[in-house]
Amino acid sequence: MLAQAKIKLGVLTSGGDAQGMNAAVRAVVRTGISRGCEVYAIYEGYEGMIRGGDFIRRMKWDSVGGILHLGGTVIGTARSADFRTRDGRRQAVANLLAHGIHRLVVIGGDGSLTGAAEFRSEWPELVQELREAGKIDVDTAERCAFLAIVGLVGSIDNDFSGTDMTIGADSALHRITEALDAITSTAASHQRTFVVEVMGRNCGYLALMGAISGGADWIFIPEAPPEADDWQRAMCEALRVGRQNGRRDSLVVIAEGAHDRHGVPITAHQVKQVLEENLGEDTRVTILGHIQRGGVPSAFDRWMSSLIGYTAVQHLLASQPQDEPQIIGIRENRITTAPLMQCVQETRAVAEAIKAHDYERALAMRGGSFGESLRTLYTLMQSNPSTPRGSGSTRPLRFAILHAGGPSPGMNTAVRVAVRLSVDQGHQVYGVRNGFQGLIDGDLHEMDWMSVTGWATAGGAELGVNRKIPQGAELYQIARNIESFGIDGLLMIGNLAGYQACHRLFSERTNFPAFRIPIMCLPATIDNNLPGSELSIGADSALNSIVDSVDRIKQSAVAARRCFVVEVMGRDCGYLALMGGLASGAERVYLPEEGVTLRDLQADVDEMTYWFKRGKRLSLVVRNENVDAVYTTGFMVALFEQEGGPVFEVRQAILGHIQQGGSPSPFDRIQATRLAVRCVEFLIDRATRKNPDAAFIGIRGGRLQIRDLEDLPRLMHPDFARPRDQWWMELRDISRILRQQPADEG
Ligand code: ADP
Repeated sequence: MLAQAKIKLGVLTSGGDAQGMNAAVRAVVRTGISRGCEVYAIYEGYEGMIRGGDFIRRMKWDSVGGILHLGGTVIGTARSADFRTRDGRRQAVANLLAHGIHRLVVIGGDGSLTGAAEFRSEWPELVQELREAGKIDVDTAERCAFLAIVGLVGSIDNDFSGTDMTIGADSALHRITEALDAITSTAASHQRTFVVEVMGRNCGYLALMGAISGGADWIFIPEAPPEADDWQRAMCEALRVGRQNGRRDSLVVIAEGAHDRHGVPITAHQVKQVLEENLGEDTRVTILGHIQRGGVPSAFDRWMSSLIGYTAVQHLLASQPQDEPQIIGIRENRITTAPLMQCVQETRAVAEAIKAHDYERALAMRGGSFGESLRTLYTLMQSNPSTPRGSGSTRPLRFAILHAGGPSPGMNTAVRVAVRLSVDQGHQVYGVRNGFQGLIDGDLHEMDWMSVTGWATAGGAELGVNRKIPQGAELYQIARNIESFGIDGLLMIGNLAGYQACHRLFSERTNFPAFRIPIMCLPATIDNNLPGSELSIGADSALNSIVDSVDRIKQSAVAARRCFVVEVMGRDCGYLALMGGLASGAERVYLPEEGVTLRDLQADVDEMTYWFKRGKRLSLVVRNENVDAVYTTGFMVALFEQEGGPVFEVRQAILGHIQQGGSPSPFDRIQATRLAVRCVEFLIDRATRKNPDAAFIGIRGGRLQIRDLEDLPRLMHPDFARPRDQWWMELRDISRILRQQPADEG
């Protein structure tokens, strides 16, 4: 009996390259193979499709090994003038059909995706023409009568409607943030001003998020040109006052497509000239250019692109001739699909609104959080609070801010935002040193506008951390301090211990009337084990440091047949292990939610031995620190070593506190900012109520959500320090498919 012909899929990258494209290609190839398809890479985008021959190559599981961590695209990209012609596209059809390919995953920007949609609608006619010309046979023409396409958006600008993040945007933000952090340190040493130009012709996303992450002092973006025609005066005045107030550096971020309200371009060099002439300051221009496209993909770009690559194949295999082509994107942390052409049109509509000087519409089309982030940035950039203390319409309030748990990158960012936004409205903020112990000891210090300068970017926790959960007489001391300092609201930025401490204060309200103040918890722990939020501040930074460490570990083992057992943090929560494994291409992850048995370990050793004997050189397993009390990392290493015998050797890497350190990732800085804004609004709003709420904030489904602290026990796992609801557990199957090579690839 003849074996049934395999389904053939093609994948290509086109247009501008972006970090994360390789992760997407890898996922498409591996998912396709695991679904029993033949997968072909089309090298050099549409150009390779037209040239055919060696530009269209069958991919095996190993063809995409070792590319997850590489920037750019290993299958090449190009811009193709020929693809814009009918003759070129007809040739492309002929080349694809020579391999029987009529399902395509196209990874590119709006140009590439528009081209793909047009190619698809023209396909039946082109097939017919080829058949009439005798270039393909009737059977092929019938079998491949329609083209199925799925688009993945590769664009560092994050300028595409229909997805919250495009492939490469997060990595580009990493490059920008690294550059801004580096520039800030030299600028501060010499009291200089820097004007930094970032990419974005019609889209200010990178500039805006870069400015928030880098703690910039002024910004120019295409969607929101300066209000006034004499923008030079407003900018110079703001920067001058900042200097007078003690700012050692000034940082202006400008998008390459910046212009004034009449559409006249504003360039970085022009801004430099204005600043030098008016402020007499040494001003330098840095144009980041292609640095933003380069370098390794961020953890997010690796896992997000892997997921959308996986989903693209599922979608492609299910698509019917009549189905409209879709893009696969990410919305609110979930993989979504959206009609391709509608997204292209919406994307172009923003550019058209900017061109027509309709900035209000352009901003509105960018979505709610863009405008909100811009407003927040405008406040944070001020050199002074807009409402001096006591001059507001309401009584000045006093808030206390403290941390709990271990340090988590992004904590300082959140404190800075909370202090500035409160002080900006004429209120007072006390920083509590050393967590709840400081609240017991009365270690509170007033913070002013400039006291948080530089905190946007700093790792660690300037206020200090502590795991203390107060009890007994300590509660009395806290009540006394709240009264004596006249505290009207409490903001806790920290981990589960902090949530529990706040819950305790809340439940002791009847005994201690002083606790009848609004209490707000902002999730900040690398473990990502808090209820009510899909991500806590610090988890993304930790994930990036895991991925960075694993990249180095892998590089250290180029020659040997070696298995690395990498232990990551997370306590009872497997988030870091699963996502770290997904983003670094681990073959196996051990999660506390699943545990591990001796039988599992035996099966894992057998599988490793099988592949090492067939030439595999490196194997990576990621183990959460609390998977099992008996089968520890040391135990597993010893077991693998013993069982691996002469076939492979084993090394362990316990990443430890590296994961808590380092400067916060751009994502953590942006999320910390978003959350802190809402926390301050909450405290101000509730402070004058009789029985104010105690709550915790989080991001769920892309939205900020506030829940009663009373719900805390109900939302937690009864026996383990993790929430009952863990959205990322759904990703286990995908992670498994991408790492488990089928024994027979066919
Ligand atoms: P990006 O995909 O990054 O937006 P481009 O706009 O340069 O990059 O598009 C990449 C390639 O996609 C082009 O060189 C061309 O081959 C193809 N392409 C773009 N627009 C179209 C179109 N309208 N019709 C056919 N092909 C197109």
